[in-house]
Amino acid sequence: MPPRDPREAESSFTDPDRDAYESIPGMPGTIMRMPEAPQSTDAAVEQLLEDLGEETQPKSLKYGSSLRGRAAIVTGGATGIGRAIALELARNGAHVAFNYFSYDGGGGMKAEAEDTAREIRQLEVKVRCEECDVRDSAAVERFVRNTVDEFGAVQILVNNAGIARDRALWRLSDEQWRSVLDTNLTGAFHMIRALAPLFRRQHDGKIVNVSSVHGIRSEFGLANYSASKAGLLGLTRSAAVELGPSNVNVNAVAPGYIRTTRLTSGVPAEILDTARERAVLGRLGDPQDVANVVVFLCSEYARHITGAVIPVDGGHLL
Ligand code: NDP
Repeated sequence: MPPRDPREAESSFTDPDRDAYESIPGMPGTIMRMPEAPQSTDAAVEQLLEDLGEETQPKSLKYGSSLRGRAAIVTGGATGIGRAIALELARNGAHVAFNYFSYDGGGGMKAEAEDTAREIRQLEVKVRCEECDVRDSAAVERFVRNTVDEFGAVQILVNNAGIARDRALWRLSDEQWRSVLDTNLTGAFHMIRALAPLFRRQHDGKIVNVSSVHGIRSEFGLANYSASKAGLLGLTRSAAVELGPSNVNVNAVAPGYIRTTRLTSGVPAEILDTARERAVLGRLGDPQDVANVVVFLCSEYARHITGAVIPVDGGHLL
């Protein structure tokens, strides 16, 4: 069985059989025992989700029309947390541009991105989506330029795009290290650098970086992911210092375990259960929980907050 408690997982790495432990693809911060362990059955996952369904659900938090007429860029906005953020910004009146990136090279994510764009359009704001790899600075410059040309201006940037390639530190390949740092940290830098001149010129801007509780406290197998998310917190503070005099707020959120499709489809029920128990509120987060805080940080209600990191983790870090 996978350990019930992550602390047990760490101590069990004195076990000579440690190579039997692997990460769960797409699920940052989860290390599980791979082989003989009876993994969750579909029924067990279904049962867990059913239990979760009985919990209170987060509501869309409308801040009136405070974002009416403003324009936002959300990276990785087609799926999961990014999608919830893009929709919540649109519900509050902002025009939204988001990017997606198909790692298969065959445009595999296009359909999903178009679905999200359709849903945003129904909220009667402008929307645009474009394929753009945040690791590629020239592609980012192009995406930003196209968006500004179409929307006239942009005042909000949410750096949400991120990946995980979990593995014990001594087994991480160069590619696994680089791809995570390049996407989660350098990608955010590319976006901020591309928008900073505009934000400075217009003396107006809000930037929110989606970090993680694992940027604050790590677990086994997360060297690349934790380094990228901790780096993102450093970038948040530096950008807040440098852009503050131009009336640009730069903040970060640090989500705990959030129920996204990728999370629930790839992770055994036992691991989700452990994460739920670790959060003092006794539940996993929902993408909407993160979206509500991000939109708050993008609104004038957060006018005097900058350089801050807000955990959205149900008390996971306590
Ligand atoms: P998803 O995989 O659904 O979202 C990640 C998004 O990033 C996808 O839309 C993906 O686009 C995009 N992306 C990945 N690589 C690139 C790239 N090179 N260029 C452009 N876009 C890219 O996962 P989540 O919604 O769960 O995660 C969103 C963010 O929240 C991530 O930064 C993650 O680290 C963070 N987070 C998530 C937690 C969770 O429990 N779910 C907990 C803490 C933090 P595409 O699908 O088109 O490739």
